[in-house]
Amino acid sequence: MRAKSPDDTVANAAGAEPAGEGAVAKAKAKGKSKPKPKPKPKPAAKFAAAIGRKPPKPVDAETRREIFRRLAAADPDPRSDLEYTNPFTLLVAVVLSAQATDAGVNKTTRRLFPVADNPAAMLALGEAGVRDYVKTIGLFNAKAKNVVALSRILVEEHAGAVPADRSVLEKLPGVGRKTAAVVMNVAFGEPTLAVDTHIFRVSHRIPLAYGRDTDAIEAALTPLVPEEYRRNAHHWLILHGRYVCKARRPECWRCVVSDLCRYPDKTPEPKPGKTKPAASPTIEPDEDALP
Ligand code: SF4
Repeated sequence: MRAKSPDDTVANAAGAEPAGEGAVAKAKAKGKSKPKPKPKPKPAAKFAAAIGRKPPKPVDAETRREIFRRLAAADPDPRSDLEYTNPFTLLVAVVLSAQATDAGVNKTTRRLFPVADNPAAMLALGEAGVRDYVKTIGLFNAKAKNVVALSRILVEEHAGAVPADRSVLEKLPGVGRKTAAVVMNVAFGEPTLAVDTHIFRVSHRIPLAYGRDTDAIEAALTPLVPEEYRRNAHHWLILHGRYVCKARRPECWRCVVSDLCRYPDKTPEPKPGKTKPAASPTIEPDEDALP
């Protein structure tokens, strides 16, 4: 079997039969350009398919401001559900929270942080020691390894401190773009917008902005958030998605922005004694783009 050539890849992506080497040579000789890969469906089109109709236009600037004003009024001092005591424990808690619930992470860190709340102590605990504390959460082997590895880097290269620099944080083991953004926002007060699956969903439903993945939503949404709300926008949207605009059944009847939201399948209040309304269609970020 011959190795895959770049020509095969392009041809397959376009849904065509792979061209033989002779055909490719002929096409090149004739000066024909390579077939273009099929474009991915646009995010709004993907959302349209999920809800079965034309997607609404994103809300205008005035409506966006009113949405954030109401979210701010309902929760003036939003806090992360993760428990931490300093920038280092916040960083570790966020690393541990990937594909785990905040409640599950808090259960483990309530025992871990009293023993190791700084990089040197975490390093001294070692991988096996950390694993013992975090073994009840998903991916605990890899997470224990990353926590010890990032603690070593902080001790050896940053004098045991968590650097207030997003690009440096992103290079630490187990720390992606989203984790770094959370630390910059919560620990250092930067107006970063760490887009997770909750913000992605809320953004599409209202809609604030459409995007293929969490990075695209971050890029589109950050400049749209009125400046005075940027510092806490991340918390308001996450908490709104987690507790009100839930994935399977948004609780629209008690949503403070219901009259401003353009989601066509708003959930009515369930009547006492009646079965719950059917689950709503939704979309999630493309899996290959999840942090
Ligand atoms: S009205 Fe419903 S869909 Fe719209 S933001 Fe509120 S909970 Fe989400």
